Amino acid sequence: MASCPHCHSHNLKHRTLGRTVAGSVGGLAGGAAGVAGALNGARTGAMAGVVAGPIGSVLGSIAGAALGGLLGSKIGCEVGSAVGDSLDANVLDNIECIDCGHTFRL
Ligand SMILES: [Zn+2]
Repeated sequence: MASCPHCHSHNLKHRTLGRTVAGSVGGLAGGAAGVAGALNGARTGAMAGVVAGPIGSVLGSIAGAALGGLLGSKIGCEVGSAVGDSLDANVLDNIECIDCGHTFRL
């Protein structure tokens, strides 16, 4: 059983700072990339929809934009969380003492 090097308490908890922060940043970056993807998707959808006439073109752009935005944000968040996980595991202090607030690595 691990104990705090500062006060020798056994009341420890895992910290997931890297995952939380990197996951949010990744989600935001992915969302921004998703907007660019959405514009591309809208254009592609509109071109594909032209075959089905004006209504098909409108529906195609909406579907393309929605897919591009969703995918970008989801992928960004997952990549960010993966990076954060490895930060938590390899770089950051990953254990926090509940009693004295000391953080350290195990
Ligand atoms: Zn402590």
